[in-house]
Amino acid sequence: DVNWEVRKGEVFGLVGESGCGKSVSALSILRLIPEPPGEIEAGGIIFEGQDLATKSEREMQKIRGSKISMVFQEPMTSLNPVFTIGTQICDGIIFHQKLSKKQAREKAVEILTTVGIPSPASRLDSYPHEFSGGMRQRVMLAIALSNEPSFLIADEPTTALDVTIQAQILELIQDMIMKFNTSLLFITHNMGVVAHMCDRIGVMYASHMVETADKHTLFESHLHPYTEGLLNSIPAKGKRKQSLHSIEGVVCNMLAPPSGCKFHPRCERSTSICMHEEPRLKKMGEGHFVACHLYD
Ligand code: SF4
Repeated sequence: DVNWEVRKGEVFGLVGESGCGKSVSALSILRLIPEPPGEIEAGGIIFEGQDLATKSEREMQKIRGSKISMVFQEPMTSLNPVFTIGTQICDGIIFHQKLSKKQAREKAVEILTTVGIPSPASRLDSYPHEFSGGMRQRVMLAIALSNEPSFLIADEPTTALDVTIQAQILELIQDMIMKFNTSLLFITHNMGVVAHMCDRIGVMYASHMVETADKHTLFESHLHPYTEGLLNSIPAKGKRKQSLHSIEGVVCNMLAPPSGCKFHPRCERSTSICMHEEPRLKKMGEGHFVACHLYD
C-alpha cells in the first residue's frame, strides 16, 4: 500500500527510521527482492509507461543498470572484491551498449574521469580494496551512471562515509544527475541531507507513506506527528547544551503490526479511532498529502 511518484528530472527524498520499508520499496522497483519469499500481490510499478511488476527476469535485466540504476549504502560490500574496477564498470557497458572490450574501457575511463578518479586509465586495473571509502563510492556512482540511466536510486549512499567525504559525494551526485538529466530517488534517515538535496519528500513509517510534500512545505508546515518527531530530533544549530528529542519506542514488527494507525503505540496525540482505523492519505494542499486521523 505504498504509493508515490518521482517526476522527470526531480529529486524525491524518501525518509524514515531504519526498518520503515524505504530500502524494500526501492529494491522492489528493480525487482531485487527474491521471489519467494517476496511477492508482489497487487498494484504496479509504472516506469516510462510500462509496468515493471509484470516484467520477466530477462526483461528486468535489460532495465537494471541501463534505464534504472542503484547506488547502495556500503561501497565495499557492493563492489566485488575479486574483480578489478575496470571489469566491474565494463561488464555493464558491454552488456547494455553492445560495445567491444576496447570501446567499453574507453567509456569506463571517461566515466571515471567524470566522477573525479585521478589517473583513471591506470586505476581501471585496481581492485576495490586499493581504493578509499569515498573513492569506492565514486566508482559505484560511475558504474550506476555508465549507461546514462533516466532514473537513479541512491540508498543512503553516504551513511558509511565520514562527514567531509559525505559532502563531496552529495555534491558529485547532484552534478551527475544534472549532467545526465537523471531523476533521483534519494533514500536517507538524515533530514539535513534531505533538506540539501531534495525537491519533494515522502515520509515513510511501517511500510506506509504517511506524508508527502515539497521540501519547503514539509519543513515549514508538516502535519503528521511522525514527521514532527523526525524534525524535532535534528540538533539545533548553535545550541551547545541541548537534549535531543527522540520518538519513544521502536518501529513496529511488520510480521505482527498494530491495528489501526501503525504509529499509534508511539504517538503522543493518538485517540481511540487511531487504534482501530487505518488513516488514508488525504490531500491537505497543493502536492501535500497526509495520513492521520487528526485531519479527518
Ligand atoms: Fe497519531 Fe492517530 Fe495521527 Fe496515527 S492517526 S499519527 S496515532 S494522531
